[in-house]
Amino acid sequence: MPAAKEPLPLILKHHPKFIFFTDFDGTITNQDSNDFLINNFGHGPLRRKEVFDDILHERRTFRDGFKELLDGIQLPLYKCIAELLENITLDEGFKEFYAWTHEHNIPVIVLSGGMNPIIRALLAHLIGEDEVKTLPVLSSNVVARSGKNLDEEGGWEIAYRDDSSYGHDKSLQIQPYAALPDGQRPTLFYAGDGVSDLSAARETDLLFAKEGRDLVTYCQKENVPFTTFRDFSQILGIMKRIVSGDVSVKDVADGKA
Ligand SMILES: [Mg+2]
Repeated sequence: MPAAKEPLPLILKHHPKFIFFTDFDGTITNQDSNDFLINNFGHGPLRRKEVFDDILHERRTFRDGFKELLDGIQLPLYKCIAELLENITLDEGFKEFYAWTHEHNIPVIVLSGGMNPIIRALLAHLIGEDEVKTLPVLSSNVVARSGKNLDEEGGWEIAYRDDSSYGHDKSLQIQPYAALPDGQRPTLFYAGDGVSDLSAARETDLLFAKEGRDLVTYCQKENVPFTTFRDFSQILGIMKRIVSGDVSVKDVADGKA
């Protein structure tokens, strides 16, 4: 069964000229929370690298490989969250970037292959409870394994958002906006770093790919135009120039600005 297209949310009510989609793990945060859990409480970094190499080189799907890695984590959910709150840090530029988007009517939408309660807990911790309430986070979820509850040993597993080979096909969230007619269609941006961003990489007008990460390798391999970033302060600098009309999205995508 193909994954269903998501309905357009209320975001268009305010007629934004720009929408900024972003990955969560390794993009808004400095470390990938799933990698952290897998490395420290699951199959470990060597197995993780093998699986992710297989995904990147299309020998197996993200859906299948990521599930295998997460299934190796027996730590109860509340303990996973506690470990992550202690160990995962926010990209230093993100808070200022996010405040700026608010002032300029630019919705930010988080698209993640990760698990909603973990992402929400981290965002509330890193950005603030109130700020996070209005931030849409479209992601996969967690469910209790049969006969168990989330907060016991081996009690949870990932529940994918859709039936796609990605578990959450991020391009499906972007396509309804991309398909709007001229005059209504906002300019679309995406920031990401890894294999779970592959499906979204082609859908937006400007893709920010994190320096030195797998998404850069993929974009080069597939000839998908992108511009690299180190942190959100660089993205903010470019966005300010685009919004003020100083440079065009095309110039940035072509590497001319
Ligand atoms: Mg990521």
